[in-house]
Formats: sequence, C-alpha cells, structure tokens
Amino acid sequence: MRAPRMAGSSSLSDLIDELDALPTADMPSPSRTSLSQDLGKLLTRLFPVCRSITGDGVRQTLAVLGENVELKVHSIPTGQRVYDWTVPQEWNVRDAFVADATGRRVIDFRESNLHLVSYSEPINTVMSLAELLQHLHTLPDHPDWIPYRTSYYRRNWGFCLRHRDLDALTDNTYQVVIDSTLEDGELVYGECILPGTSREEVLVSAHCCHPSMANDNLSGLTVATRLAQLLGDLKHHYTYRFVFAPGTIGSLVWLSQHADRLDRIRHGLVLTGLGDAGPLVYKRTREGTAGIDAAAVQVVIQGGGEARDYSPWGYDERQYNALGFGLPVGRLTRTPHGEYSEYHTSADNLAFISEDALGGAVATVLRIFDALENDATYVNLSPHGEPQLGKRGLYPSTGGQRATDSTLAMLWMLAESDGGRSILDIAGNTGLPFAILRRAAADLERVDLMRKQRTTR
Ligand code: ZN
Repeated sequence: MRAPRMAGSSSLSDLIDELDALPTADMPSPSRTSLSQDLGKLLTRLFPVCRSITGDGVRQTLAVLGENVELKVHSIPTGQRVYDWTVPQEWNVRDAFVADATGRRVIDFRESNLHLVSYSEPINTVMSLAELLQHLHTLPDHPDWIPYRTSYYRRNWGFCLRHRDLDALTDNTYQVVIDSTLEDGELVYGECILPGTSREEVLVSAHCCHPSMANDNLSGLTVATRLAQLLGDLKHHYTYRFVFAPGTIGSLVWLSQHADRLDRIRHGLVLTGLGDAGPLVYKRTREGTAGIDAAAVQVVIQGGGEARDYSPWGYDERQYNALGFGLPVGRLTRTPHGEYSEYHTSADNLAFISEDALGGAVATVLRIFDALENDATYVNLSPHGEPQLGKRGLYPSTGGQRATDSTLAMLWMLAESDGGRSILDIAGNTGLPFAILRRAAADLERVDLMRKQRTTR
C-alpha cells in the first residue's frame, strides 16, 4: 500500500503547492482524496485486533504498520523500572465469555473484544447473578453501546456489555470463563525514522493500545502512517521520528530509552482522534510559546479549527511535556476525548469516522510541517511606497478587480517584511494561509523585490 508518489513533488512545500493548485470546481476536496487514499482500508484492517498495552495485539498492529512504512520494533521486558512506573506483565487473551445455565453465551469476547475488561486475569468458575454483577460494566444512558474499561495496574477481571443485555439477565447461575494469560514478557513499541538534512527532530507520537475503536487510537495510527509514507518520498530539513507506543507506559519507555537524545527534539505532535466529524483542535504545549504552537495554531485556526491551552490531562502529551522532559509537544485531535459520547465505547466504530476527516488531518499536519520547515523572515528591497507589480507580471493587468489572495499576500509581505517579522507572524496577523504567503515571498524574491534574511527554525 505504499503511497503513490505525487508527480514532481520533491520537497514538502512543492507537495503543498501541488495540492493547492489542484482544481476544486468539480471535486470538493481533491487534496483530501489523494491524502486519505487507502487510509480507510488500513483502519478497517486494524479495527478487529484486540490491542492492549502489551501482548500479541500490539505486535500484530505494528506488523501491519510495518507493511506500510519502515518500522523498527523495540522491546522492554516485564518488571523493568521506568521512572515511577514498572513495565507490567504481558496480557494475552484467547477467549472469554459468560454463559447461562443452558450453555448459551450471554456475553462473548468473540463478538466484540470490548466485552472483556482489558488485562482481566484468568478465571473459570460458576457464580450467582449477584456475584457476577460486581464485575459487569454498562452505560445506562446508551443501552446499546458496550463501554471500554481497563484494569492494567490492579489485578481484577470484568466484562462490559450493553445495558439492554444486562437487563435481560435472569437471577440464575452463570459460568464465567476468561482464557487469558498474565505472564512475564515484553512491552513493544514501533519507531519510524525519516532522516532529514538536519539531525534536529520532529516527533510524531500516536498510541497503539486500544482494542476495537476507530477514532481513539486507530485514526492517529493511520494518519501518522500516511504522513510517514508521504514524507518518506520528500526532501525535508528536519529528521522526522514517528513513535507508535502504548499510552502512558509506552511513551515513558520511549522517553527513558532516548533520554540522552531528547535535546534533538525541536517540535512534536501527538496525533489521535482525527476521524470524527468535528473541526480540528490543537492543544498547545505547556509553555504555549514553542515553534510548533505558532505553526499549528495558525494552520488549524486558518482551517476553521480551534486552539486550546495545555492541561495535564489527555494523551501522551502529558508525558512529553512533564517538567522532567519539557519537550515542545502539542496535540492534534478533532473533538477532544471525553467531549463526544461515543468516546471509549463500541459506538466509536467504523461508521463514526470518515476517510475525508482522516485525509483532512493529513493535509493539516503537512501544512504545519511546511510552516516548521519553511518559515523565514524577508526584507523588502523596495520599501518606498508600493512597488509596481504590474510591470513585473505580478499584478492582474486589468484594473478595478477585487484583490485575489495571492495579490493580497504579496502586498502584505511587502508591507510587513522589515526583516523582523516572519511569514508565520504575518500569517497570524492577516489570516492568510502560510503557504500563500510563502509563495508570494518567493515570487517577490524572484523579481528582486525581496531578499530572504533568514529561515526561522
Ligand atoms: Zn482512549
């Protein structure tokens, strides 16, 4: 499923320029169509896998991602101390069910892996309904949805089911079987590194520890994979490092294994929850003043999305931004976790997400990277009034027309380029997209009206 290389794209900015130049009249979102190609297929293939923070499901998931990008899988053994945490035993499950007195499965892991509380210990016993109820979880407000529950760090077992099915259980005895193992093993994570001309890095991180849910976890994995495919074919300044790791413990393991190289991380982005119908939401780094904040806020807001301040609640940005690391890692989602009712339930399924939403997220992250790679300050070489653009072929020859965005972009670049303000600053002040201003600057430089002073990285 390697991405077809877009004809003639040699750098990230070339790719963005090609996407912007595609006709939009008959195809409402051509860039999304090409960027989201095959993402639905990849996501559908990964959907049934029973993932958790360890075990065969994670290995299987990384193996599938590794068919699409060059992925190195790293392992750390059970029991290893990682900062304040310990790598847990490995959990694997073959089967789990609750059966009534006739042997009929009333809760069946094989129907949905969400039925089993993740990290449930093995059990094979018969019990009363009253005893069983202590271990059952439902969503009374959404009686047809199965909740998602975990018990990673406290030995326990449990089942999740539709509230409607719970109501149908009669006061009887039930056979409870969980054919799982909790044994010393390993925790694995995957890494894909795309070397740039610089050793300075952009970190992209997506968690890979959730079972069958489409938006929470699979959308991040597939968008990150697509980005790695596209960037793998392009020239870029930064080295891009994609980390696919189990939530919390996985990112902490990654941090512990890269502690001596963290100063190379110049920018970072956690990707998840990118497939629903909501607008994009960028969550700032803890300081809120990093380069990734300036780039992502501008691009996301320009695209109709929203930016929010940091909070120590959420996904792995909590680990990367922790005081002991202080990495400039923001987060991109659509509707944030906990703000949609399908979150952590069986309703976060394939019907909940769209390939268009995934493709839109890919396009947005590429635009953010374009800004990280190519932001620069310029000096206006003809600052005494407006230079005559028409005689240089840069202005529509018929007067009286409304200014187009590209004309406006040139006028803004000339008006603001005193060597102090960068393209991104001007984008923030004018609301014009970074890529249009970047192209305007290049056009003006070509006719000697501007000179690039320095690249702002
Ligand atoms: Zn989650």
